[in-house]
Amino acid sequence: MATQHQDISRAKSAELFEKAKNFFPGGVNSPVRAFKSVYGTPLFIERGDEAYVWDADGNKFIDFCCSWGPLILGHNNAQIREAVAAQLDKGLSFGAPTRLENELAELILSNNSYIEKLRFVSSGTEAVMSAIRLARGYTKRDKIVKFEGCYHGHSDSLLVKAGSGLVTFGETSSAGVPKSFAEETIVIALDDKKALEEVFIRFPDQIAAVIIEGIPANNGLLLQDQEYIHFLRAITKEHGSLLIFDEVITGFRLGFQGAAHHYAVQPDIITYGKIIGGGMPVGAYGASKEIMSHISPDGGVYQAGTLSGNPIAMVAGIATLTQLAASGFYDKQEQTTKDFVETLRNYIADKNYEVQIFTVGSIFWFAFTAQQRISRAEQIDPQSMEKYKIMHRELLNQGIYFGPSGYEVGFISSAHTEEDLATSIQAIKNALDIVF
Ligand code: PLP
Repeated sequence: MATQHQDISRAKSAELFEKAKNFFPGGVNSPVRAFKSVYGTPLFIERGDEAYVWDADGNKFIDFCCSWGPLILGHNNAQIREAVAAQLDKGLSFGAPTRLENELAELILSNNSYIEKLRFVSSGTEAVMSAIRLARGYTKRDKIVKFEGCYHGHSDSLLVKAGSGLVTFGETSSAGVPKSFAEETIVIALDDKKALEEVFIRFPDQIAAVIIEGIPANNGLLLQDQEYIHFLRAITKEHGSLLIFDEVITGFRLGFQGAAHHYAVQPDIITYGKIIGGGMPVGAYGASKEIMSHISPDGGVYQAGTLSGNPIAMVAGIATLTQLAASGFYDKQEQTTKDFVETLRNYIADKNYEVQIFTVGSIFWFAFTAQQRISRAEQIDPQSMEKYKIMHRELLNQGIYFGPSGYEVGFISSAHTEEDLATSIQAIKNALDIVF
């Protein structure tokens, strides 16, 4: 019988959280950070280095959240830090073109055959919002199709809830989104060809785009078959709609060419975020020259940004992607993650625990279920999150930081050493012993 570890001290974090509640709704600047679906007060992080973060109480953790994905090189990467420090001497922002934008764009485009031109913005939300506008402007159609369980940032037309029926209209999942906006968004289940065929029959010549996360990773990791992705490509083409790949998580995580290359599919528009800025606020959207020619100032689709292409963010992106472009980087990351997952899977099989670990590239997700395949959001039992909550608390007590929600995936960075991973494996085994 495994014994539970003692709870770590969160006294200083609790104090800071109480103060933060006076300033911010729920005490945070992004909702999941509030630890609402896991045990205890949110940890206030003081600093990070390599694979570790330290909280205000001095607790040290091996970090598998990695700022929700951007930190593929871990914390405080020397090359990024030096590049940012050097740029600090030259200026923070000019609101004018710089050579740095060219440099990052060239690095991306010369290593990616799926887009020909791109535009830098300052977040994933902005990238996707702009991609949707471009798709609408380009096709002169208004409706978009998204999938239940795919998160695309917090812009109005993408905050639409999926119902249990085939197609849900006009049901928003956020107060403040006009019903008329939501009505232009059709939500269907992933991995359901018939549902999408019916949408195209019901709304002929009205659908501007179908948008999907490269690999859905915001509602657990919902791995899709290649055949289904190719079906999306074929049906959108047949009906004159665009296929948008939201690669805010998968872009530069599954290789320079992301999920598009993983599935060997050519989307019409691709969005990026997270890793592209190496921890600074950057997003981007890209497409063929022809589609991108519709963006202002040459085209009629307006999109702009005071801090777009910000020099500090650009140098962080350049320093990051330069390291990722080194030969063998992604193979190593993938192999490390496979070994990590395989060791845990063997333990789980020996113990007969009802938990799966799904993985792709250096992403992993624990699903407390007996099902061997989960490709739709509705297949996840919300009750199973209670088990994640127990695991999360136990892991924190053993110095392992996972994202504070069972629906969120974990990331392995190149800063995670063999020793870090061995320590984490032991901690996860202990935590699973407590859960079951
Ligand atoms: N798209 C995907 C797939 C995401 O995972 C996220 C954020 O997690 C976004 C878009 C929004 O990005 P941001 O939080 O940078 O606005």
